[in-house]
Amino acid sequence: QKFPQGGFGAQILEVIRELKFEKPSSIQAQALPAIMSGRDTIGVAKTGSGKTMAFLLPMFRHIKDQPPLESMDGPIGLIMAPTRELAVQIHRDSKPFLKALNLRAVCCYGGAPIKDQIAELKRGAEIVVCTPGRMIDLLAANSGRVTNLRRVTYVVLDEADRMFDMGFEPQITKMLINVRPDRQNILFSATFPPKLESLARKALKNPVEILV
Ligand code: AMP
Repeated sequence: QKFPQGGFGAQILEVIRELKFEKPSSIQAQALPAIMSGRDTIGVAKTGSGKTMAFLLPMFRHIKDQPPLESMDGPIGLIMAPTRELAVQIHRDSKPFLKALNLRAVCCYGGAPIKDQIAELKRGAEIVVCTPGRMIDLLAANSGRVTNLRRVTYVVLDEADRMFDMGFEPQITKMLINVRPDRQNILFSATFPPKLESLARKALKNPVEILV
């Protein structure tokens, strides 16, 4: 099995080649077609399965299909993760693609000076990778003039079970209330306990569910 050659475009496929990803991992083989079709998707998969590329590759495609950002625009892709370490890892995994596609990503997490993150967001970025608490603070900073969610149409909740266990559900819900309802939602989680179902029901519409 090969990466879906038709859907991604030459630039993304070129980076996949440079990274020497020869074929999609199991989660990618199942999740990529669902996500590329525009459906909300739940993937139950652990770290090491290749889940990050499963949500990043369709996000890059999605963003390249949108009109470019204008000066006051916030991000198009919003990725939420439970910890600084995971947010940094996702940001790092995106970097070879950012360069090739001429996109910008900002990584925003707590426990680091908010000033630098404010400055980066103000310069503009198509993608924000964040921990939920810090993102709420950034959305409120400077009376909402730092960034906004008006252009967000692609939302990822990564390691959703850990975000739930860390008590981030209220922040996630609060954020998603301000995102347009016709967005595409992707939720990845290592486990899918019943308590996650209420969050998933609130955030996602008629999702495809994938288990590996
Ligand atoms: P993840 O589960 O997203 O943390 O990915 C685990 C590792 O697999 C990362 O180092 C990725 O760069 C790598 N990876 C992701 N997709 C592929 C692929 N299709 N082929 C080979 N390696 C991959």
